[in-house]
Amino acid sequence: MTHQNEGWSRRRSLRWLASLPLGAAMLAAATQPALAKAKKVAVRYQDEPKSDRNCLQCRHYIAAATAGAAGTCKLVDGEISPNGWCAVWAKARKPKRKFQTKS
Ligand code: SF4
Repeated sequence: MTHQNEGWSRRRSLRWLASLPLGAAMLAAATQPALAKAKKVAVRYQDEPKSDRNCLQCRHYIAAATAGAAGTCKLVDGEISPNGWCAVWAKARKPKRKFQTKS
């Protein structure tokens, strides 16, 4: 009886060990972001607006809690100026905040 339990336990342990690489791969996939963000240089990001287009008016912009502070972007990596611009700019459906420039 004890011998049978040890055999079953050994088989179960082997199954558990065999599942580790797959389990580790699944855990890694679950913790990775779905898509990596683009580097600023790849999308020609600049800290200045381009004509009347800026990040604050872009649908991908995520504003900071403090008005005027750098925010983030859904598509581009790093801090993003509300006055910035890049090649994947897309007009926001609704204006997020009134755009203010420093004078
Ligand atoms: S996609 Fe480009 S323009 Fe739009 S918020 Fe991100 S960095 Fe700014």
